[in-house]
Amino acid sequence: MEDIGRIVQDIHDKIHADADWGIPAQYISELAGVASDQFAISVVTADGRCWSAGRSRQPFSIQSISKVFALIATLGRIGEQLWTRVGREPTRTAFDSIMLLESDGGRPPNPFVNAGAIVTTDALLSGREPSQALAEILGLIREMAETDEIYINDRVAESERRTGERNKAIAHYLASHGNLSNEPDLTLGTYFHQCAIEMTTEQLAMSGRALAGLDGVPRTISALHAKRANALMLTCGHYDASGEFAFQVGLPGKSGVGGGILLIAPRTASIAIWSPGLNGYGNSHAGTRAAAMLAKATGWSVF
Ligand code: GLU
Repeated sequence: MEDIGRIVQDIHDKIHADADWGIPAQYISELAGVASDQFAISVVTADGRCWSAGRSRQPFSIQSISKVFALIATLGRIGEQLWTRVGREPTRTAFDSIMLLESDGGRPPNPFVNAGAIVTTDALLSGREPSQALAEILGLIREMAETDEIYINDRVAESERRTGERNKAIAHYLASHGNLSNEPDLTLGTYFHQCAIEMTTEQLAMSGRALAGLDGVPRTISALHAKRANALMLTCGHYDASGEFAFQVGLPGKSGVGGGILLIAPRTASIAIWSPGLNGYGNSHAGTRAAAMLAKATGWSVF
């Protein structure tokens, strides 16, 4: 396992030598100005050790990675009923596309595209206040990561609320189909705050241990929900580049427009990678390459 320390350092050095960073998310003003030449990787192995390289203690905006935790919290609350409101099929459309909503009568294709995540958060919110739903997601993440030092960045949430016209359109379109049970603005506010949770790669890798089913990890989520989340991460975790990611990396992963990737090697390791510059699909440009390098160097794969 000492090898993992060397492997992550080599990946870090190669990523910096290549200096091919991509562009941070421009549509969220608080993220647009983040320096793109940053990189971090953390790997928690089955023996409980955490191997890191780069800025692994720098909090970043987890954005869509929060959808994994929101999904688990919602499944915990309403169970399989969720699937009456959202599907579980990959798409060939962008993360913020509205297209399939029209053809599928307002039922989003999966819980990781924005429309599906907004419906998932809406289901978690029903019957209570946004602060309670957010406390549940944050509480679950803190429990899984075994630290309370994880917070929501209100400035990021607010900047997304100001500029998130596309998500507002999606929420109102869902409402027009009767697929939102709360006021669109209430659901969106909760969703924007959930996306604005900040974590370091060390914390994110720790939080993924339960998804990886590592031995000796407190059972914070059920085996069934871990299976559901991993299946969706593999098939839908990188939007319209999910097939390519599975092809190149071969592990379930979830990206966020903050530049993070959570990667799961079942029963072997939980991995978090961060580099804020994105590729054309809204996934971390250097982070996606680093994930492929790690899979190649370790031989980890679900296939
Ligand atoms: N908050 C972002 C949005 O809704 C999340 C997208 C992502 O990280 O892929 O647009």
